[in-house]
Amino acid sequence: MALRSLTGIKPTGEIHLGNYLGAIRPGLALQDRYTAYYFVADYHALTSVMDPQELRLASRTIAATFLAFGLDPSSHVLFMQSAVPEVCELTWILSCQIPPGVLDRGHAVKAARDAGRDINVGTWMYPVLMAADILLYDSDVVPVGSDQRQHVEVARDIAIKVNHRYGDGTLRVPEVSIQEQGAAIPGLDGRKMSKSYQNVIGLWQNPKKLRKQIMRIVTDSRGVDDPKDPDSDTTFQLYALFAEPEAVADLRQAYLQGGLGYGHAKAALFEVLNEHLALPRDHFHHWMDHPSDLDDVLDAGAVRARAAARETLDRVRSRVGLK
Ligand code: AMP
Repeated sequence: MALRSLTGIKPTGEIHLGNYLGAIRPGLALQDRYTAYYFVADYHALTSVMDPQELRLASRTIAATFLAFGLDPSSHVLFMQSAVPEVCELTWILSCQIPPGVLDRGHAVKAARDAGRDINVGTWMYPVLMAADILLYDSDVVPVGSDQRQHVEVARDIAIKVNHRYGDGTLRVPEVSIQEQGAAIPGLDGRKMSKSYQNVIGLWQNPKKLRKQIMRIVTDSRGVDDPKDPDSDTTFQLYALFAEPEAVADLRQAYLQGGLGYGHAKAALFEVLNEHLALPRDHFHHWMDHPSDLDDVLDAGAVRARAAARETLDRVRSRVGLK
């Protein structure tokens, strides 16, 4: 059987550059070597999105984003998580295999508590649902940003435990894949780019807004003539992820020697990013403007995903003694 990769994005808030660099770009790069499963994590979003209209729109936005960046739906599988309710059954089976302490230590719960947000049982169960996402599709590799390492490790631990208890091959043990570049993209304020910090650079805004947002990136107070540290500067770090190596080397040099203001660096970042996003932006709007084409892709993906899920779930049910 071909090796499988799995990438999921939660449809909450605006899709941003961190999602693209941490998960979508590395996920799509695996299309050559893997049968790639991409899903919109709408069950996960239910822990925080309580408005049905908002959930529907955000879900379609994520699906269109994958396609806009080049997901080939004829060879790979794009689907809504909730189109495969088998994942909930596997979640229950897996939840019977782990002690509650694992979930108390989950970083989604911790982050919500630290921010003083109310959590629900869904937030607490998040790592089990994510383990079920990964294990249901017999995933070999899961490309994520470094913030998700812990969750993929929970999935690995559960799979190892289940295999020990119910026999080798009950579940496939996945590998986490974290790109060195793009593992933790900084946001406008220099902290990790995150919807919860409201510091994101959105992917699909028009060029005028994109430029405005880039101009808001926080810098230190060094003036135009001062030498600057490229490695601690958000603008430079983002520029380095999009520009050609020669241009990156030139900008690094200009930072180190002084004579270039942050405003110029931001303008250069805008140019390179806007160019990178121009064609995907057209594709994105095409998919959003043709809802029945998008539905066709998602329906076909759901059929394939569900067939794969059924195989795993039948195997697991039988091994644990459910039939
Ligand atoms: P989420 O938006 O939480 O569903 O995250 C979807 C994917 O984007 C996950 O693989 C995250 O690791 C990745 N991601 C989110 N924010 C960042 C960031 N600032 N840097 C790198 N990856 C990120």
